[in-house]
Amino acid sequence: MHVHQQSNRKDQETVAGILFIISAPSGSGKSTLVNALRSQVGGIDFSISWTTRQPRGSEQSGREYHFTTREEFERMVQDGEFLEHAEVFGNYYGTARRSLDEATAAGRDLLLDIDVQGARQVRAKIPDAVTIFVMPPNPKVLRTRLRNRSRAEGHVDEAELDRRSSEARKEIENYRQYRYILVNDVLERAVAQLEAVVVVERLMRAGTPLDQRTRRDFEIAEACRESNSRERLRPILESFGISQDSDDPEPPLQYKLPGG
Ligand code: ADP
Ligand code: 5GP
Repeated sequence: MHVHQQSNRKDQETVAGILFIISAPSGSGKSTLVNALRSQVGGIDFSISWTTRQPRGSEQSGREYHFTTREEFERMVQDGEFLEHAEVFGNYYGTARRSLDEATAAGRDLLLDIDVQGARQVRAKIPDAVTIFVMPPNPKVLRTRLRNRSRAEGHVDEAELDRRSSEARKEIENYRQYRYILVNDVLERAVAQLEAVVVVERLMRAGTPLDQRTRRDFEIAEACRESNSRERLRPILESFGISQDSDDPEPPLQYKLPGG
């Protein structure tokens, strides 16, 4: 039955499909990864957020975002229309509850591309959301990607590049709150990792036994789990000036091989 089900905690809910949340510092390549996923994996809806920022490059209202005014956004907040909302780089961004309701009614999975503040709000409401964090390989590569994107859009704003670069570190500090960590170095590899995470989460929900092909996906997804990523992430975190704390992370989610 594709309806919202109240769980025993009053403020929490579960959804019929899987809710995927993807966060990343701006310029990490999250949109690129999500677009690749979109063209290769079916059965997943992509929530179009509301924002008060101006459209960039060829962005169109209703495609990348619903662009709106601060007044209209504030009215929507007052009317409780958002599942989550946050201020990012001086603009408001929010996910309409309607996106989740529609995906749930259709029994489809839903992917939210939201920042760390938004992810925190959604996780509190929907604890079984599957969270994915995308990291850039190092600050220099991040800066280059931000600059290249701005160039391609025909407008390089150094102050904006500075702001987004320095914000990256703060966002990366939250990586441990995510279930999977992808490093977007070689694009094809990061795309394969994102696909594997989606495939494996679906298999586990459905309790489908693994076959030869999906076992490979399982191995890829396992390697991306936060709890398995310490060594892989050490040099990247160091390059951003973040130390890996020695204390234990949140207890890792227990995975069971379907059928095992
Ligand atoms: P985000 O959505 O995280 O802000 P984008 O997807 O817009 O980032 O990517 C930022 C820039 O980096 C774009 O110009 C994109 O083409 C480029 N890019 C993304 N992934 C890679 C990669 N793995 N290698 C090289 N360039 C990349
Ligand atoms: P951009 O302006 O580059 O498109 O996005 C800036 C940041 O806002 C990104 O980290 C993106 O994930 C985040 N973002 C986009 N939509 C939403 C949303 O609906 N809610 C929240 N909390 N963040 C969002």
